[in-house]
Amino acid sequence: MKKVYLDHNATTPLDPRVFEAMKPYFTDVYGNPSSPHHYGRLAKQALEESRAVVAEAIGAKPEEIIFTSGGTESDNLALRGIAYHKERGHIITASIEHHAVLKTCKDLENDGFSVTYLSVDREGRVDPDEVRRSIRKNTILVSIMYANNETGVIEPIAEIGRIAREWGIPFHSDAVQALGKIEVNVEKLGVDLLSLSAHKIYGPKGIGALFVKDGVRLSPLTTGGSHELGMRAGTENIPAIVGFAKALKIADGEIATYHTKVLRLRDKLESDLLNNLSQVTIHSAKAERLPHTSCIGFASVEAESILLHLDLKGIAASSGSACTTGEPEPSHVLLAMNVPIELAQGSIRISLGKENTKEEIDYTISVLEQTITQLRTISSQWAVEGNKRYNLT
Ligand code: PLP
Repeated sequence: MKKVYLDHNATTPLDPRVFEAMKPYFTDVYGNPSSPHHYGRLAKQALEESRAVVAEAIGAKPEEIIFTSGGTESDNLALRGIAYHKERGHIITASIEHHAVLKTCKDLENDGFSVTYLSVDREGRVDPDEVRRSIRKNTILVSIMYANNETGVIEPIAEIGRIAREWGIPFHSDAVQALGKIEVNVEKLGVDLLSLSAHKIYGPKGIGALFVKDGVRLSPLTTGGSHELGMRAGTENIPAIVGFAKALKIADGEIATYHTKVLRLRDKLESDLLNNLSQVTIHSAKAERLPHTSCIGFASVEAESILLHLDLKGIAASSGSACTTGEPEPSHVLLAMNVPIELAQGSIRISLGKENTKEEIDYTISVLEQTITQLRTISSQWAVEGNKRYNLT
């Protein structure tokens, strides 16, 4: 059976070049980077070289990079780190954020912080003026993601960054999905904190970073040794860190070809589905989006049934964020965009990768067309009257 992986926003395969770069750090260079002997010094050298690579890729200084276990931890460290340092105050975020931000904010509310969850327009965009209007005297943090994991929508981060800077409020952005897909430069974006993760860019899982601008004060979440500039106690995962730096270098070097390739494939996918099926909605089609993400709604079918059928044909896609897959609730992102609940429930996410081919996309289009037609035929919501089909809901 053909196998087609179209769930790159959930995770990506490890690039073989990354694996090669990591290998010696499992076998030969296994020292603890905090040890002063030569085993430790070699590990420390790899750690600092990797830090410099990550810093350079986003226009930061090496001492502004803290390695973490991934995007979730980086988001937690940014939000809780600022909040616990201030002890009280108000946070502004958006209703379309990843759960790593949203659930952390909910937790902070339980701890006595107040949070404003900004709404978005129908395309899923945050309005910078709304950010400005929501600022209070006691606002301690603004946190708005750079690109959404479900729709691929790119938020106006530089504009929000200017507003936050004007008011002297620290600004965090979750750039986990943007990294390696579009330019991520902390200076241009005007961010004080930025979350990154390696496994979305063909790097290993369980490693990420938080950019913390010089002078921004955070409370660490783990205590112990003085690793990572005192911000994250715990022996660093050197093979993973080396892999992250290698993945980022590769992504940086290939970004232009990647962009052209996945955009061409996505355009084909979306236009064929729109042309060949009725009642298809490409969510956020009018917004600026990441080139590889497509969130597609099919009226009168359940996303879970579509995904099951695709899986039986060897195609892996998802319904929104991987973290919510398995939960019957429709995507909080689509609901925040005022997508009707039935359409949200019939929406799937296809996220392309650099290894996908035109043949794979042609195959996916044909399987999707058959699947949707078949599911609609058996759906009780659909009536057939002669050769005219219409939706009863
Ligand atoms: N933030 C966003 C926008 C994501 O898409 C994800 C992963 O899906 C995360 C954070 C969590 O990253 P990690 O899996 O590295 O913890």
